[in-house]
Amino acid sequence: MKAWRFHGFGDMRLDDVPEPACPPGHALVEPLCVQPSVTEAQLAFGIPTLAYDRVKRRLETEAPIQLFGHEFCARVLECGPGVAGYERGQRVAARAKLPCQDCPLCRSEKSDLCRRGPVIGFDLPGCFAERAVLPEIALVKVDDSISDSEAACLQSLSDSVAAVETAQIQVGDSVVILGQGSMGLECLQVARLCGAGLVITVDVRDEACAMSRQLGADHALNAKTCNVVETIRDLTGGNGADVVFECAGGSPKQGLAGSATIATALDAVRSGGKIIGVSWFGTPVELNVDLFRERSLRYLFPDISTRAHLEFTVRLVASGRVRVKPTITHVLNGIESVPRAFEITANKGKFKAINPAQVVMQPAAQRRE
Ligand SMILES: [Zn+2]
Repeated sequence: MKAWRFHGFGDMRLDDVPEPACPPGHALVEPLCVQPSVTEAQLAFGIPTLAYDRVKRRLETEAPIQLFGHEFCARVLECGPGVAGYERGQRVAARAKLPCQDCPLCRSEKSDLCRRGPVIGFDLPGCFAERAVLPEIALVKVDDSISDSEAACLQSLSDSVAAVETAQIQVGDSVVILGQGSMGLECLQVARLCGAGLVITVDVRDEACAMSRQLGADHALNAKTCNVVETIRDLTGGNGADVVFECAGGSPKQGLAGSATIATALDAVRSGGKIIGVSWFGTPVELNVDLFRERSLRYLFPDISTRAHLEFTVRLVASGRVRVKPTITHVLNGIESVPRAFEITANKGKFKAINPAQVVMQPAAQRRE
């Protein structure tokens, strides 16, 4: 079969690789629609971010290797022995980070805190290939009312659900979301469902601000044309917001905000309020911890999203309570277009993309039935 393999950073090739076997507890799937995450797109070009050192080491010692491809919709072709919950023909999505099922945390039903298990696309081959083999514990069934394209967004949405859960929003809370990329737009919609009374979003792109208003922001501020902190203070009675989600940070080379948004978050949150860290910065960040101490601030980070979160996202999208379709701006056709999807996703600002660029892996007429 054909699979995209990395021979080094910035060097991906569509290679012929052996058909994967389907061991017990696993399903063989045919990817239908796949998107690189922003992290994967940056790593593909060797830009430091989450898991950079791990990927670099693997490339230096094992290349060529299949990497990435954990955000997808796929169809089950075959189930290995012991797989009871799935059957041929069903569409599935997956969570990326899996529990090891063996450590003390996993044995005490805290497996969402386990960091020993494999990650799809990093330790296990992902879905930038004609076929993939995935552990049953990673999978979730996709409802018929959800398109392949929407289903490819479920993994990211489940991380956004986990982020909003971390904030423990109270009914009526004022919420600020810095950054209106796909996760910022998802956090906006989930925060509203959780009872946020006032939602203020911030971006530097007019198209992202317009999308944000369309998806329910009470105020979508363009940081290029207004004083964000002053406006947020005015809108929240002078004190600042109860909760601030930081979804904008990352490498400025990719059009992201660096770490300046942490300073904005500190100025925009009220005393005793919460800042939820959603971004990955890719480099160490300097913080004045005394400011947090003085103002009793909480800087919190989401847990790994669980299977329950992923199943919840299926219900959210199927019922229309969260809309991901309007955020899907770039859809490419055919497995050959995967590198282009990486290029667009690594440079979303330049290409005016909101969600990562998606790839419909093969035309329906050519699929194996
Ligand atoms: Zn474990």
